[in-house]
Amino acid sequence: MAKMDKSIKIYATVRKKYIQKSIKQRIEALFLDNIGKVITSEQIKKVSIDPITGKEPENWHQRLSELRTDDGYTILSWRNKGWLRVEEYLMPSSDKRPQAGKRIRPDKETWTKVLERAKHMCEWKEDGKACLLKENQIDPIGGGRVKLTPDHKKPHSINPTSDPSDFKQWQALCGRHQVMKKNYWDTSTGKMNVYAIIQSSTEQQKQIVFSFLLDYFGYIKDEKGVISKLIRNNEKK
Ligand SMILES: [Zn+2]
Repeated sequence: MAKMDKSIKIYATVRKKYIQKSIKQRIEALFLDNIGKVITSEQIKKVSIDPITGKEPENWHQRLSELRTDDGYTILSWRNKGWLRVEEYLMPSSDKRPQAGKRIRPDKETWTKVLERAKHMCEWKEDGKACLLKENQIDPIGGGRVKLTPDHKKPHSINPTSDPSDFKQWQALCGRHQVMKKNYWDTSTGKMNVYAIIQSSTEQQKQIVFSFLLDYFGYIKDEKGVISKLIRNNEKK
């Protein structure tokens, strides 16, 4: 096993073609081949591309998140380690948390009831507007085909006594909103994962945040898109 030394950042190299069937398996193999090395999001995107059809990856963020939550791998990012940059990831060892994957799921009958209530559409609501993406539809924002999966309305950490046979406790969510839900409540810190929320937002929402941050940090953008530091009057004194 490679030793982690934060003074020397070793970057991974993608030397072979990953031909595993699923995106998650290809990403997993890439990490396992590069234990202790820094993997960039570009490299993850590259192995996410379907080796046969060449199809562009659907939401690889979600697959990465599943490797952490479902498979129990530790995958570090800049949020865990200051010396990692945004878009850089590192798996320190191939160990898996044993309790991972033991998430309670609704039983089959309950899940059928949930899907019926949802009319096979994502039940995520934001600003009073429901997502309503249908199973197998192409997600116009996140890309990729919609797959509805069960979500416990209250996060696990808050309600550990979730009932797998009570359909009222469950909702059907599309992949993008599963990620968003997970990111809203980071179960380990109980804080919102603002970076991930912005990452999964629309282009328009990102523009709003971008403008806000430019203004907040005192930058201006001219018509050509050139950004420069604004010297405020009160700072001159
Ligand atoms: Zn949705």
